[in-house]
Amino acid sequence: MSIVTSYFANTYTGSRRKFQQACLQAGIEIEHYVHTLRGINDEELATDVARIGPQDAETIIFLTSATHGVEGFGGSGVQVGMLLDEKRPLLPDGTALVLIHGVNPFGFSWCRRVNEDNIDMNRNFVDHAGKNYPENDLFELLYPHAVPKRWKDSDFQECNEKLAKLAEEYGVVDVRKALTKGQYFHSDSVHFGGQSASWSNETLYKICNKELANAKNGILIDLHTGLGPYGYGELMTPSKPGEAVFDQLQKWFGDEVHSTTAGASNYAGSKGSVLAGFRPGSSKLNWTSVGLEFGTLEQKIVSHAMRGDIWLYVHGEPQSVLGDEIRTLVRDAFYVDEDRWKDMLWERGREVVDRVFNGLSNS
Ligand SMILES: [Zn+2]
Repeated sequence: MSIVTSYFANTYTGSRRKFQQACLQAGIEIEHYVHTLRGINDEELATDVARIGPQDAETIIFLTSATHGVEGFGGSGVQVGMLLDEKRPLLPDGTALVLIHGVNPFGFSWCRRVNEDNIDMNRNFVDHAGKNYPENDLFELLYPHAVPKRWKDSDFQECNEKLAKLAEEYGVVDVRKALTKGQYFHSDSVHFGGQSASWSNETLYKICNKELANAKNGILIDLHTGLGPYGYGELMTPSKPGEAVFDQLQKWFGDEVHSTTAGASNYAGSKGSVLAGFRPGSSKLNWTSVGLEFGTLEQKIVSHAMRGDIWLYVHGEPQSVLGDEIRTLVRDAFYVDEDRWKDMLWERGREVVDRVFNGLSNS
């Protein structure tokens, strides 16, 4: 096992332990934000926060894992590297790096992309007070076919056929976007955004507001897995060229940063994502956020696993042999247990943080 491989684990408990040990080894204190629920093995669930750098730093860089719970296995490994690896980027003066481990610890532990209320965290950052949710009327037609009733190939086949027929009628891209951009009225279906701010949403605000108390600039890099080519880390933002956030990201990353809303993007994006809807700190704070999304397996495998995950908790028995099988399927779709993949994640994660640090040093 290479050193980099040892940063990663394939359970929540294992990932958390590695993160805590790495903090101990690096002499960094951890703050625990303990969840009200327990994990799959009755373990404590928490979002753990480690701050590297001075308390009076003007610029804070947040590196977050497990916004989509099960995607935390990859992100956690990158965070451990930031504490231990010889090649970890060096902090510029006046800067702190805040590692937020396990934004959605429930999903992390239960191998779910969503949280304890079937909420997709990247759809939950909207204004819940007015219940004025982003429009998604087309989803109402897709809803009966989005998740099969039984865990049978024939049921999946039937759903796929129905959805394909609707795609013929309403357009392939529009149907795909309606399925993925978030919906707010069906807690038993895909990409549910919730009808109130979730525990993880409120906790993320608490953490960032506290850490940003003395800061002028805040930067968030949100780590994800499951989209794109194997091991490749794509930088994504919902901001467009000409907007301050995009232009800032382009200074650091050049053409590697990709707008999910500009031009004819096939990506649905979402108004309720961490990147689009989360804005901590004071109104004077200069805030920039970007997603770093690592590819795992073929998209059809990932999509199937995502539907399996929803099916299990809506129609199935989570605590069963089939439940274990489906959780393994979901974990394997979002976390590739291969040395090469982990090396690629660490190298790219390191490079991305390094480029931000360099950009800050030179500005
Ligand atoms: Zn994700």
